[in-house]
Amino acid sequence: MVAIYSFKTGSESIHAVIKPVFFITNLIKKPISMDKRLLDILVCPLCKSALHYEAKNHELICKADRLAYPIRDDIPVMLVDEARSLSADEVFSN
Ligand SMILES: [Zn+2]
Repeated sequence: MVAIYSFKTGSESIHAVIKPVFFITNLIKKPISMDKRLLDILVCPLCKSALHYEAKNHELICKADRLAYPIRDDIPVMLVDEARSLSADEVFSN
């Protein structure tokens, strides 16, 4: 099983196919729910802007698109089709 993630590297975005074990090994070393460094480089696949981690629902939020990307089994699911649309209230409360 692999997943496609977008990362920001300077001014360009690249797409990488990564085995989710990458995330799992990071999370075992750091038992916080999301690796901070990973969150720093993960971007929204739609608009390429930075994501905000929402601990309450365990989701990655893109405020620009009002989408919440789920984190399933500690693996961020960076697919627009899988993302949940946020209400205005949810966007502003984050
Ligand atoms: Zn976005």
